[in-house]
Amino acid sequence: MTASQKYDFLIVGSGMYGASLARLLTDCGCRVLVVEKREHIAGNVYTEFIDGICVHVYGPHIFHTDNESVWNFVNRFARFNEFINQPCANYHGEFYSLPFNMNTFREMWGVTDPDEARAIIYEQIIAAGFGGSEESEEASRQPANLEEQAISLVGTDIYNKLIKGYTEKQWGKRCSELPASIIRRIPVRYEYNNNYFDDRYQGIPEKGYTEMISCMLDGIDVKTGIDYLDAEYRKMLDNVAGHVVFSGQIDEFYGYCYGPLEYRGLRFESERLDSTHQFQDRAVVNYTDRETPWLRITEHKHFTDFAPESSDTDITIITRDYPAEWKPGDIAFYPVNDEVSRDRYLRYLALAEAEDRVSFGGRLGCYRYYDMDDVIAEAMDDAEELIKSRCSD
Ligand SMILES: Cc1cc2nc3c(=O)[nH]c(=O)nc-3n(C[C@H](O)[C@H](O)[C@H](O)COP(=O)(O)OP(=O)(O)OC[C@H]3O[C@@H](n4cnc5c(N)ncnc54)[C@H](O)[C@@H]3O)c2cc1C
Repeated sequence: MTASQKYDFLIVGSGMYGASLARLLTDCGCRVLVVEKREHIAGNVYTEFIDGICVHVYGPHIFHTDNESVWNFVNRFARFNEFINQPCANYHGEFYSLPFNMNTFREMWGVTDPDEARAIIYEQIIAAGFGGSEESEEASRQPANLEEQAISLVGTDIYNKLIKGYTEKQWGKRCSELPASIIRRIPVRYEYNNNYFDDRYQGIPEKGYTEMISCMLDGIDVKTGIDYLDAEYRKMLDNVAGHVVFSGQIDEFYGYCYGPLEYRGLRFESERLDSTHQFQDRAVVNYTDRETPWLRITEHKHFTDFAPESSDTDITIITRDYPAEWKPGDIAFYPVNDEVSRDRYLRYLALAEAEDRVSFGGRLGCYRYYDMDDVIAEAMDDAEELIKSRCSD
């Protein structure tokens, strides 16, 4: 850092990663500036209160973690309710519990005994020409694509009704054209348990994520509506801090010099329903058939059912998430991580590793599908590294 620099660190992006890192560095006595290109803080976890309902503007976000340090950290900035995620699937009007568990198998085949469910799944796996994942170590043939991989793990009924259509919509490709490696395992529970996550800690900040991120950034300089990659801003910003941490897209940072990485987009359509106390009985319903154009419907008031002011009204807000192609300039929601993009990312990573004043973090900086707790854990590690390198300068 030079005498003219007002800040030790410039953090680009005020999402869960950038805000966590900003807090951790500030707590260690560093001077931090956060810039954000959107007009609001919080990145994709941004929530907004509309008619007393906490709306998850960029898709439903449920905080879940097994990491105690991360849980303690977020609890400094918000009180979490006890929301448990129990989504279900709607397949052409038939409802199935998720994740796949004894409730799903009862709904699908009318069985109540775990051994009967195991036997049905196993029979279907064998009939499809695979050896089965539990009973036999050796598969009779190797799954050549995602479709075969899924069938080799859960059989044809679950695949056809609950995996195929949803996955094809989400990725914009047929399952038979997607690599088997996208699915390594499919959790199947032979017990009655609709809790989507296995983690010890789970919940939603009672006042929403925006309020939580705002508390995290308390006392830190934050400027919204500033695109760091805009040449004019960049010239100015590069002089205000000794080190830049970039949590936007790594390919965009390098001007897509090796070509863009592949991402999937999403389009959200929200609707306010008057005179409707409740549209559906839970927060998230996935539409798993190929024909329904949306992936899921979120009814936001269920996230904060514990807050009476949002659940007692006869107004509700729902959002349909539609799959979307991504092109440079759009918000990148999911890294596709196929072979081409993976190779390309490694080339960008080599450029990143040669930088001494810039580092990358978060979901887009690392081109990885990270959950919220993952990016906070990453921010914790990065803060430690950055402080160490600052002390040795
Ligand atoms: C639909 C959906 C649902 C999800 N649900 C869950 C869930 O239930 N539970 C869970 O744990 N995780 C969930 N996730 C993952 C979660 O959203 C991410 O882990 C988290 O948001 C990553 O935070 P981040 O800070 O890395 O990225 P982001 O939130 O994307 O933040 C990056 C920020 O950088 C800003 N930025 C980018 N480029 C620039 C630039 N040039 N100049 C200035 N600012 C810039 C962006 O505007 C953005 O605000 C979900 C993700 C999606 C897409």
